[in-house]
Amino acid sequence: MSLQLLRGREYKPPLRPVQNGQTSPSDISSSQDAGPREDGPKEFGKVTSIAVAKAKRALRFPANHQTKAFYRRFFPDASSVEWNDWRWQLRSRIHTLEELTRIFLLSDGERAAVSRHQGALPVGITPYYASLMAPADPADPLRRTVVMTGAEYLLAPGEAEDPLGEDHDTVVPGLVHRYPDRVLFLATGTCSTYCRYCTRSRLVGNPGGEYQFSVGQWEKALAYIEAHTEVRDVLLSGGDPLTIGDDKLDWLLGRIRAIKHVEFVRIGTKAPIVLPQRITKDLCRMLKKHHPLWISLHVTHPAELTDEVTESTARLADAGIPLGSQTVLLKGINDTIKTMKPLMQGLLMRRVKPYYLYQCDPIRGSAHFRTDVETGLKIIAGLRGHTTGYAVPAFVIDAPGGGGKIQLAPDPVAGRDGDDLLLRNFEGQIYRYPDPAGRLGRGAPV
Ligand code: SF4
Repeated sequence: MSLQLLRGREYKPPLRPVQNGQTSPSDISSSQDAGPREDGPKEFGKVTSIAVAKAKRALRFPANHQTKAFYRRFFPDASSVEWNDWRWQLRSRIHTLEELTRIFLLSDGERAAVSRHQGALPVGITPYYASLMAPADPADPLRRTVVMTGAEYLLAPGEAEDPLGEDHDTVVPGLVHRYPDRVLFLATGTCSTYCRYCTRSRLVGNPGGEYQFSVGQWEKALAYIEAHTEVRDVLLSGGDPLTIGDDKLDWLLGRIRAIKHVEFVRIGTKAPIVLPQRITKDLCRMLKKHHPLWISLHVTHPAELTDEVTESTARLADAGIPLGSQTVLLKGINDTIKTMKPLMQGLLMRRVKPYYLYQCDPIRGSAHFRTDVETGLKIIAGLRGHTTGYAVPAFVIDAPGGGGKIQLAPDPVAGRDGDDLLLRNFEGQIYRYPDPAGRLGRGAPV
């Protein structure tokens, strides 16, 4: 399999080859297809009905009403099977100013920012994800996360290209070893959709330069893990590892799993949210071979919780993969309890445990996305006790300079009265707990 698979833009799957009376799945469509457009009858030539049915089933995917309308309007020439093919979605990503203009009514700020962009973190939006946004509203929350504005070019105090110091902890290219028993394996620099607040904005989507990933680089990372027996946990990230084709990913997971001291493997991905069609039954069958395997989903807003995402998460959960979520707190996008609560509850309903809520990292040009830290604490206070405990994520700051994740939570200790510790509950009321030997609440360091 070609390394071109690592760069979805250049990957050209054979969508419509017809040879010797055979047909590819993309030629198949029927009224049973749950995709956005119900194509009319087609001539299948000599293809057997069994092969047709099998191919149709493989690419069947639900579609929400808004997405169907978008699809008909902006991609009328694509068949429903193409729309449901993740490789078509990757290949058809919205990248250029011209493509953006065809779909969105751009503000002057957006237009100018896109025009002057160079280097890493390009614009890249799957047609599916674009379908969830308001074409005429630059303030649309999802649109703000993927269409650049002039604010990206402003440098605020404390911002840096690599605020988490990952480059410092990079032991071989693409492998970060910071915590004692865990490594971060950057398997690719490609994402299906690029987030404007990305922690790795310096390297993802880079058309050239030091962060090109290759099998040769993977081998060096694998050799490092093999040589370091203290590594028991590997987080596969990037970029988005699910932009890698099944065969290559299978190979990589197999190699990691073959290392005896590696117990725990995780994949960090946004694909089930921005490219849900990527979660094919074949992919799930392949992932199942590598258990125990966990997946962390990058989720931002309740508008992402569509029928398609219900399907992608169900397929992963049904494959026995425990799912957790990671959400970056973003100003004006998801920084209220009114937005965050349905997001967390919606995830739980899709068998995804809300895991981390991140304070936005101070990457260059991200001040317009960052809230103050207190906002995150207020959100946690607004969830804790007010909804299912499983729906409450841990609020963390990834400490600039490589200090690792530091969890913050509203302080429930209200003080002490003699032998009693005074505790504040979720409604702000004070309760006593007998704690005669305790030092907590006495004003002295614990
Ligand atoms: S999907 Fe993840 S790695 Fe890719 S741009 Fe978004 S935050 Fe960055």
